[in-house]
Amino acid sequence: MTRSPSSLRPRRPVRTAVLAALAAALLIILALPGSAIGLIRDAVAPPPAVPTSADQIQNIDQVKTAIKGYYGDMIDPSRVNPIDGTAIHTFSPNSSYANEMAGIVGGAENYLTRPRARSGDFRPKAVVFDVDDTTLNTFSYEIYSNFVYNPTSNAAFVNSGVFHAVPHMVDLEHYAEAHGYSVFFLTGRPETQRAGTVANLTSEGYDVQNSKLYLKDYALDTWLSSCKPACSTIQYKSLTRAHIESLGYDIAADFGDQYSDLTGGFADQTFKLPNPMYYLP
Ligand SMILES: [Mg+2]
Repeated sequence: MTRSPSSLRPRRPVRTAVLAALAAALLIILALPGSAIGLIRDAVAPPPAVPTSADQIQNIDQVKTAIKGYYGDMIDPSRVNPIDGTAIHTFSPNSSYANEMAGIVGGAENYLTRPRARSGDFRPKAVVFDVDDTTLNTFSYEIYSNFVYNPTSNAAFVNSGVFHAVPHMVDLEHYAEAHGYSVFFLTGRPETQRAGTVANLTSEGYDVQNSKLYLKDYALDTWLSSCKPACSTIQYKSLTRAHIESLGYDIAADFGDQYSDLTGGFADQTFKLPNPMYYLP
């Protein structure tokens, strides 16, 4: 049966109104403080902790191949593996990873440019950056270690300052500074790795001189007294952000590659950066 055009006509305003309401709701959600512009989508759903069938688990060799494809695995003959003296692996500037980072940084710069003044809030604004795979990319170490973390070999890479900057993040740090934000680096690396961390961030172009770098040290970090000596990453990072805000700052944006960098509050906005290489609860 064919309906006449006139029978459809009354429905159009309703449909238009519904679409307009949905669009308005989406805009409201995106504008809410704490909504995560950077959380464009969640990661691929993880397999169950106790699978009942192998079909519920991706093949690990195929996953590794996909990770290398995503980063555009290539050799960097200009940088030396501190353990075996060979050239390190790195990501390609034309990779999907670099392209995805360009989109996230563009969104972040747009966010940081928006007027931030809120009624009665005159606190200086700040941004917080994690280090590993947020400002410095550790793909070279993951390839060397075949994606198996070892604290000794990882420390050798960290202390040699061999990591490349995460694409576009140096520009983002400078952009934030140029727009009046104070910069804080907040890493789970231990205080014993400060020299290598400062050297690597600086050699890659980050302004560390005018920033504050927090590394984990239970003796110095008095604000961790409620959870030490075994603070979770979420506790360490959120308590340190609370400490930064206790100094008078408003953390406008928090950037991290792990959800544990971003949960626990004390940031107006969070930005999740891609990292399919490892998961830190
Ligand atoms: Mg990280």
